[in-house]
Amino acid sequence: MTSQRWVGAHVSAQGGVANAPLNAAKIGATAFALFTKNQRRWQAAPLQAADIEAFQHNCQAHGYQAAQILPHDSYLINLGHPEPELLAKSREAFVDEMQRCEQLGLTLLNFHPGSHLRKISETLCLRNISDSINVALEQTRGVTAVIENTAGQGSNLGHQFEQLAQIIHHVEDKSRVGICLDTCHMFAAGYDLTTTEACQQSFAQFGDIVGFDYLKGMHLNDCKTAFASRVDRHDSLGYGTIGKTAFEFIMQHPATTEIPLILETVRPEIWPEEITWLQSVSR
Ligand SMILES: [Zn+2]
Ligand SMILES: [Zn+2]
Repeated sequence: MTSQRWVGAHVSAQGGVANAPLNAAKIGATAFALFTKNQRRWQAAPLQAADIEAFQHNCQAHGYQAAQILPHDSYLINLGHPEPELLAKSREAFVDEMQRCEQLGLTLLNFHPGSHLRKISETLCLRNISDSINVALEQTRGVTAVIENTAGQGSNLGHQFEQLAQIIHHVEDKSRVGICLDTCHMFAAGYDLTTTEACQQSFAQFGDIVGFDYLKGMHLNDCKTAFASRVDRHDSLGYGTIGKTAFEFIMQHPATTEIPLILETVRPEIWPEEITWLQSVSR
């Protein structure tokens, strides 16, 4: 049943959020990701009723349910920020992102956990992240905070499954927290994915340490950098250091049905072929 696996890409929402489902439909996607505001700016104009209506209309017209859509927050937000003032600014922006999702009728928001900037301990930073999630969940309804694993570049946390588990541990409402696993980030962080056996082992580790109940989405990216390099550079499927085996494994894994599987690969012009290939190896 290939239809149970929802595959798409992070598409452009330029010109308005309502364009994202149209762009997704053009590439044959059954899932998509988008930014609901400019991801490189703190401020954004509030969504207008007409934007929301057009977005929902286009989603309905092309058969996208909320569960197939994985919005991504701004790159500026650091929910583990060591400085109180900047932590507060990040939290405010994150609440706004969650509210935008709520207004659009969306149920997931994908974000990068945060960085300690070498100013506070890992433990404290992870605790800040959990508390940030608690603040945002308290102020919104119906949207799950989906933490993305990272490559561990710089002082970014969330590259080890134990860190993800630690963040979840201190989230009060566990029904509204989840994980998005990015394959490029996993591999760059030191989880091998180059053979079926390696995939089995890395996924079993995730199952043991975090648990598949929390898996709410995936980013399917090959990697340009070496194994365990902690450097985040995406590549097209089969062109990088991971290779195609991992993506066949994922498309046959029981935990990847009915969650958005999103390409963030580097050549948007081949997204239609990447989607077709992924669906062809789905079992
Ligand atoms: Zn990603
Ligand atoms: Zn990345």
